[in-house]
Amino acid sequence: MKPAHLLLALAAALLASCTPAVTPAAPAVPTAALTPAPRLTPSPAPSPTPALEPTPWAAADRPRYILDVEIDYPAAQLAVSQTLIFTNPSPTTLHQLPLVVAARWVDAFELHALRINGQPSEGYAFAQGVMTIALPEALASAAALHLELDYTLTLPSAPGVLSVSPRQLHLANWYPYLPPYDSEAGWLIHPPGLVGEHLVFDPADFEVTLRTADPTLVLMAPGVASALPDGAHYSLLNARAFIWSVGPEFVRLETLAGDTPVRAYVYPEHTAAGEAALQAVAGSLTLYAELFGPYHYDSLTFVEASFADGLESDAFFFLDRNYFATYDGTVRNYLTAIAVHETAHQWWYSQVGNNPALEPWLDEALCTFSELLFYERLHPSQVEWWWQFRIDRFNLEGAVDRSIYDQAEFLPYVKAVYFRGTRFLNDVRKLTGERALLAALRDYAEQYNGQLATAEDFFAILAEHSPADLTNLRAYYFKTAP
Ligand SMILES: [Zn+2]
Repeated sequence: MKPAHLLLALAAALLASCTPAVTPAAPAVPTAALTPAPRLTPSPAPSPTPALEPTPWAAADRPRYILDVEIDYPAAQLAVSQTLIFTNPSPTTLHQLPLVVAARWVDAFELHALRINGQPSEGYAFAQGVMTIALPEALASAAALHLELDYTLTLPSAPGVLSVSPRQLHLANWYPYLPPYDSEAGWLIHPPGLVGEHLVFDPADFEVTLRTADPTLVLMAPGVASALPDGAHYSLLNARAFIWSVGPEFVRLETLAGDTPVRAYVYPEHTAAGEAALQAVAGSLTLYAELFGPYHYDSLTFVEASFADGLESDAFFFLDRNYFATYDGTVRNYLTAIAVHETAHQWWYSQVGNNPALEPWLDEALCTFSELLFYERLHPSQVEWWWQFRIDRFNLEGAVDRSIYDQAEFLPYVKAVYFRGTRFLNDVRKLTGERALLAALRDYAEQYNGQLATAEDFFAILAEHSPADLTNLRAYYFKTAP
């Protein structure tokens, strides 16, 4: 997730375990009344794109989150009404249910009310960032449940993906969410490590309304937007998370990657760097769609952020202000490399999910390798620079397939997982040939679209496209023998 580099390694290490905040309460509506989600009047404000037809509740095969957020910007506080509708994903009858509340880790979350199928309930407990809800009635496999939560988020000022800074609010991991259910491992809930990302997500549908009394604030969020008198509504379907930002002083830049709008929101003093990043993101989005298969959202938005490195999300990512501040007018810098890295996460994270706590290399090495593909195709004269700047100047060691719990320091973790992982994929390419590797990546993106893949899934698809024997390579780079 976070592409890291030497200078920011320490700060990033501090951030890696932070997962912040959430939103306020939603109207208590019986499930039946929700059938077609309310249609908002499309308006010119955040986006000209027309609203998507909402999925009827009864037909939803993904969890559905309806989040109504009242923003108190001066107080760095959000009042959130959340509705979560889903069906029991486990094969067994449930008597209790876990929600992951990452905002608890940074003391940002205060719950005011819980309603289960419309009935108020106090049958819940928090422990280790998990809210365990006692269900008043047993929930059979595949049966639907309707939860409502009213809560306040008070954002911490310590840098992080859920935080307030002098320039903006960063809203990642802000709402309680239903973790994926694995038939063997059960609920996929992992504690934070000292490095890396630990949250695992299945795709869901999001309807998010952001309201503010201050019309000068700039709302920055993914999905199809419709303006409201006091804010905007966003519809983001088939996404693993909904991440956003808001601040008073942002310049909005926009271009097209094919037919797909790409938007950047940057600080006014970084407009030129923002334009450069926008072009790199648009170029990489087009390239990756050609190489890996179609991009699955209607737009891509990225936002300058006041925390280290960046953070990918669906149709959205944050990018560190330091990359904009140090932009040198060329493509030989972190701004370009990390911008296209985060763009690659649209395929390796958003489309094909994986368990970032246990197998972080699977998306991170692929995204770093995707940086290389970008330079090879679009800036071939800079490939040698890229290898030196991103990979070779570091003394690389350590197993590529470590978990986030195998490492206490950020830089050694990144060197093993991201950088050595990239060397591994490059060596795989030498063995299989690029044609076979790219065919395998397209197949992997298609077959695991919307799912969680494992390293063995990846290798199984690779084996279908190439007879190359990877035994020695895996023995050299990995701790786990094939
Ligand atoms: Zn990454």
